[in-house]
Amino acid sequence: MRLFNLLKKYYVKIPLKITNILGYASNIIPAKKRFGKVYEHQLNQLDKEQYASSEVQAKRTDERFLALVRHAYDHVPYYRELFDQHQIKVDTFTSIKDIQKIPFLTRQQLTNNREQLVAENIDRNQLIYKTTSGTTGNPVGFYLDEDTVMKEWAYINHLWSRIGYKPDSSRLVFRGAVFREQARKGKNWQYDALRKELSCNIFDMNAKNLKDYCRAIERYKPDYIHGYMSAIVILAKYIAHNDLKLKHHFKGILAISENVIDAQRKYVEKIFGCRVYSFYGHSERLVIAGECEKSHEYHIEPSYGYIEIVDEDGQVIDDDQIGEIVATGFCNQGMPLIRYRTGDMASWSTKASCSCGRNHLRIQSVYGRWRQDVLVNQEHSFVSLTSLNMHSNVFDQVVRYQYCQDTVGEVTLKLMVNRPLTSDEEAEILRQLNQKTQEKIAYTIEYVDDLPIKANGKYSMIDQQLDLDSFFETV
Ligand SMILES: [Zn+2]
Repeated sequence: MRLFNLLKKYYVKIPLKITNILGYASNIIPAKKRFGKVYEHQLNQLDKEQYASSEVQAKRTDERFLALVRHAYDHVPYYRELFDQHQIKVDTFTSIKDIQKIPFLTRQQLTNNREQLVAENIDRNQLIYKTTSGTTGNPVGFYLDEDTVMKEWAYINHLWSRIGYKPDSSRLVFRGAVFREQARKGKNWQYDALRKELSCNIFDMNAKNLKDYCRAIERYKPDYIHGYMSAIVILAKYIAHNDLKLKHHFKGILAISENVIDAQRKYVEKIFGCRVYSFYGHSERLVIAGECEKSHEYHIEPSYGYIEIVDEDGQVIDDDQIGEIVATGFCNQGMPLIRYRTGDMASWSTKASCSCGRNHLRIQSVYGRWRQDVLVNQEHSFVSLTSLNMHSNVFDQVVRYQYCQDTVGEVTLKLMVNRPLTSDEEAEILRQLNQKTQEKIAYTIEYVDDLPIKANGKYSMIDQQLDLDSFFETV
């Protein structure tokens, strides 16, 4: 395991005082160097290639695809068997168009064939195991090359730079935050000088805490807000309802993980007086697409992965109909995934070009990936569903799950399972949930035979029966 991943693993155990001293010292080193060679190389490459012509991009996509299928056939048992079974001859492939000869890979197939999908020529110790959050279906486990995390950080920084973000910009962070000694002091926020992050707890966005967050904003003056849109909206509403006049002005808002709905975007931009920027990505890290400075369409990063949009029958769509995103990643050698059905929906842009001058393929907004759902804890605070992401293997045996709430502070977790969970597994799920929501929601596990999927292939992760609007008045 490389130093960075080790550091990441143990980072939260380092006392805040020490990270802050390190932080003030290390900020002398330019951020580009501080994040290491993989990051620096990737970021330079992206800066250099972003305005490449369509022809050059198409040629590179062909080359990347041909290298990927060759690697898959030579080193990945699953693909060797699949290609032989379907008489797919990668030697005869000439361009990305040949991708349509390869069958799709579903989440279920990935789960069933996980070990056969690992490349034989890669050292297993160099791979990181991750699981999807399961917000769009079954949680899925998979492996990533260990440098994927730093590479992805370079892509994200490159995208954010479109609204002025620099690698050493500071951020107010609203995501599944980890708190150290601050929590023991009853504080719900912390400032980490090493990361230049003012992190605020999103599990407990009540009036008292929101007031503290605003004070901390005035003190640390972070350049950007970074996090789940649902949490940022709660802060914006608090500021508007209480007619607060923040002296500090943010440079932009970096929305992650959730769909940005137009009404939310307009509202938040009005309250904070700056641009909301979002990008589409997913846990499996096959594709990434970010807005540009000139529009809200998502520009697909061609070196990261390839996107197809398919209809219900699996036919490739080339007009502007809405269909499912099928993704093929170019970055993960350890576990190459080809034509993976993401469950996310999108449509191609209808505009011939974008005024930014980049020639990337573009998709219009991504649909239905995340619903604006929250749970309400015993203190009447909202808990964003995304913040409950269970990135761990306790859900390996769970086919689907759903949070159901009709009483404040109480939630029934409905589980559809492959086999009944052991009492240890149940206890582990409850332990993790209780930790995430700080014992302020009482969970009950209930087993069900089915959790119906809607016509569009989605199902709601949350069945919220409370009238959420009534809670806003109390904030
Ligand atoms: Zn553009």
